[in-house]
Amino acid sequence: MMKTDILIIGAGITGTAVARELSRFRAHISVIERGADIAEGATKANSGIVHAGYDALPGTKKAFFNVRGAAVYGNLCASLGVPYRRCGALVVGFDESDRAALERLKERGRTNGVPGLEILEKEALSALEPSLNPEASCALNVPGSAIVSPYELAFAMADDAALNGVEFRFGEDARSVAPDESGAGWIVDTGSSRYQCRAVINCAGAFGAELHNMISPEKLTMVHRRGQYYLLDRAETLPFSRTIFQCPNAMGKGVLVSPTVHGNLLIGPNAEDIENPLDTATTPEGLSFVLRTAQRTWPFLSVRTNITNFSGIRAHLNTDDFAVGAVSGCENAYEAIGIESPGLSSAPAIGEYLAAMVAEDMGLKRKDEIAAYVPGPKPFHEMTGEERDAAVRSNPEYGNIICRCEVVTEAEIRTAIRRPVGARTIDGVKRRTRAGMGRCQGGFCMPRVAEILSEELDCGILSVTKDGGASRILCDTVENMLKEAGRDE
Ligand SMILES: Cc1cc2nc3c(=O)[nH]c(=O)nc-3n(C[C@H](O)[C@H](O)[C@H](O)COP(=O)(O)OP(=O)(O)OC[C@H]3O[C@@H](n4cnc5c(N)ncnc54)[C@H](O)[C@@H]3O)c2cc1C
Repeated sequence: MMKTDILIIGAGITGTAVARELSRFRAHISVIERGADIAEGATKANSGIVHAGYDALPGTKKAFFNVRGAAVYGNLCASLGVPYRRCGALVVGFDESDRAALERLKERGRTNGVPGLEILEKEALSALEPSLNPEASCALNVPGSAIVSPYELAFAMADDAALNGVEFRFGEDARSVAPDESGAGWIVDTGSSRYQCRAVINCAGAFGAELHNMISPEKLTMVHRRGQYYLLDRAETLPFSRTIFQCPNAMGKGVLVSPTVHGNLLIGPNAEDIENPLDTATTPEGLSFVLRTAQRTWPFLSVRTNITNFSGIRAHLNTDDFAVGAVSGCENAYEAIGIESPGLSSAPAIGEYLAAMVAEDMGLKRKDEIAAYVPGPKPFHEMTGEERDAAVRSNPEYGNIICRCEVVTEAEIRTAIRRPVGARTIDGVKRRTRAGMGRCQGGFCMPRVAEILSEELDCGILSVTKDGGASRILCDTVENMLKEAGRDE
């Protein structure tokens, strides 16, 4: 039996934000995650927009946490060295009913306290975004909208939390949560381990309602709503400098076209309710809907430069709002579930709020000293020529380019593996360094990344996985295979 004061279930953007905030208090804190890494759920597959807060209904938790989260995002990302850009957004309308919807959104935003919202007319639109469909007749201008790298923020918050004492354990799937009969709190069973904790915090994304219903008398229903995307290759100039939304509907914020912080163009998502919360497939129907709809924003859109497709799954609660706080009817049990959009935007505020609540209920004292998180060095591909020379002189591994598409060096890959909560898989390296994120999608660099992982983790190359579990990328060595075939002379 493993004992801890606070057990957080789920290491997405919500769990890592809560863990980082709680790491400032004197307590033993553990995070368990069913996947092989941080950000294995919705946090790795979303639009990456820090919404300004105009869309959520006033008075809801979504509105409260979104507006507070958006306000602190810039400083948080700057302090953690996470890519973030306040590029602004337009929500585009094509007819009079869209205009009325945009007016309602503007009013809603004002009520939520979002500054700078205004309706722009057709003439202003083509000057701001020349690639926009000339049939667009008006738009809500949202100067406070921003873009961020969602998983890089989760990695940085996890590293910061780990530096300050939080323990992360992967491949731990919470299968049951039950009151500890001795009255000491909760017992969480993962099949391989049992955890006894004074307080439990459910940040389990798509499985949040399942865990909630194990302990609370007030049951929740969760719908899993998948969204599919195209990701276009990086380009010197992108057709849009802002995120371009169409009018939202009952299923979400609709299909967007947006630059990413790394200079790609993201197109999507659709919204389809699915049975299996782990089914992140993409489908011809889903993608063709995304393409058709996005062409209304950008008539010249072609997916010739598409480098990958992916999908993420929204965790939608029947209450149509986030559930954040104490679990109804349970002592020392807390949750942040139903965290669909704008959950990425809200995470810093949810972390702050939930940590303060748990600390107060448990009577935790703040630590006298916090270990300062120092962001890693500038990525090699962003360095000037002089900076590159200096980097190679200080560490020759900077001179070995492993990923040619994204210009990622051996030094950066080794650093990513050695971080406090370092990469353990090919995908972990990819999301931390961008090795494998480019046009060839790892075709060239994957074997070299696998070699470096096996050296750093001191494990055989055959046990390196793409993303944990059974996702091994090599089945055997040629030498072994020849031996088995009796052809090794
Ligand atoms: C298509 C799409 C687009 C979106 N776009 C945006 C956007 O632009 N802006 C925005 O603000 N929000 C957006 N969102 C919402 C945002 O992605 C989510 O709100 C956010 O990522 C939720 O984070 P989370 O940590 O709560 O959940 P997750 O990221 O899903 O993390 C939950 C973690 O818990 C783990 N877990 C689950 N069950 C267990 C268990 N039993 N035991 C142990 N671990 C467990 C999972 O493996 C996972 O790692 C979007 C979502 C989707 C799907």
